[in-house]
Amino acid sequence: MHRFIKRLPIVAQFLVIVGFLFTLALVQNLFDRTGLEGLFASSSQKVPNQDNQVKAISLACLFSEELKPNQTLETLLSAKGLPRELITRLSEPLRKIVNLRKLKPGELLSLWSSPDSNYVLLEYEKSPTEIYQVAKNHEDVNAYPVPVYLDKRIATSSAVIENSLWEALVDQVKSPELVVKLADIFAWEIDFLTETRPGDKLRLVYEEVYKDNQFIESGEILAAEVQMSGQVYHAYLYEDPGGHRGYYNDQGKSLRKTFLKSPLNFRRISSGFSYSRRHPLFHSNRPHYGVDYAAPIGSPVIATADGVVRYAGWKGGLGKYIEVRHSNGWVTGYGHLSRFAPGIIPGRRIEQQQVIGYVGTTGWTTGPHLHYQVEISGRYVNPLKMQAPAGSPVKSEYLADFLRQKDKLLGDLNSVNFILASAKN
Ligand SMILES: [Zn+2]
Repeated sequence: MHRFIKRLPIVAQFLVIVGFLFTLALVQNLFDRTGLEGLFASSSQKVPNQDNQVKAISLACLFSEELKPNQTLETLLSAKGLPRELITRLSEPLRKIVNLRKLKPGELLSLWSSPDSNYVLLEYEKSPTEIYQVAKNHEDVNAYPVPVYLDKRIATSSAVIENSLWEALVDQVKSPELVVKLADIFAWEIDFLTETRPGDKLRLVYEEVYKDNQFIESGEILAAEVQMSGQVYHAYLYEDPGGHRGYYNDQGKSLRKTFLKSPLNFRRISSGFSYSRRHPLFHSNRPHYGVDYAAPIGSPVIATADGVVRYAGWKGGLGKYIEVRHSNGWVTGYGHLSRFAPGIIPGRRIEQQQVIGYVGTTGWTTGPHLHYQVEISGRYVNPLKMQAPAGSPVKSEYLADFLRQKDKLLGDLNSVNFILASAKN
């Protein structure tokens, strides 16, 4: 730097130094601003004034209110009596960092101001983990995301199933989301809606996210074990050094497969029926090589694999029926639907887990149910017993690393005792 300056003519040296001092001044100004942002957060504050001298300014909280349905930032602020000019000055910079058209009921808006309105702070809390502020210091207005500090804690749970996975686990965990996450992980292997039987067991190691010692949400499931009809299933979350992450079994094989275990999705059914205590679902094998799932009318039906719609229309006793062609000569069929999802027409490409239709009673049925069938090269196979190809396993160069982490997680799982839900309270 010094050698560089000495090579320049004297005038240029002067300009470089002035430029450096100017940059210092800018940085100083920036510090004042960030200082202001931090200081604005509570109601009585020290705030640098325009002469860059720190003096105490007290900000009073004017309101802190949850948005009502259809309320916008502007309508709330003007209902609170803020002048139109001030609303615009606060919302413009905020609009540049967050989409204000997407405000949802229940999100929190708060406003603080100094008595002379020279200092105003507006806070938009989208969620406990996503907060934005816009601060006005005289003519200066700045919007910025507020840093949120979260800590993750490791938790464990176990359950012995008496009726359903939902019932067994939901009271033991802090968020129902964890139950559906578990069903998501095993969606290619286990149909938790219909396959579990009394006495099946599970245990989990997972993260919980906290902010200021307050539970915010369930984080990721790190490891899970399901013991079902004499079989033990394991899932371990692993991210390889190349950044590829997923759930794998004890051997490092992917839990994802080309076909899902069931065309009814635990997450969609559970949320669609307001987490009813017992899902009114069962399946029965019929001699016709399909599976019949009794399910409430309107339950979303999902494609069990990527493919292309081959047929979507009426088909005799199967009523409203969708047929999907997959790779390697596999074809799935979904019958008795009440209706098709929008855009489901022959030739349409669809993805695994995409909703294609809804359970109904069309065709020959005795009650609402889904008929599901699978053909491989024109021959029917039992969907409950078929072996679908799996996704990519842990890469061989990372297998040793995976197995080390797996052994640690397996140790954690094994240390979780099974607790009967009804024995608790
Ligand atoms: Zn059937």
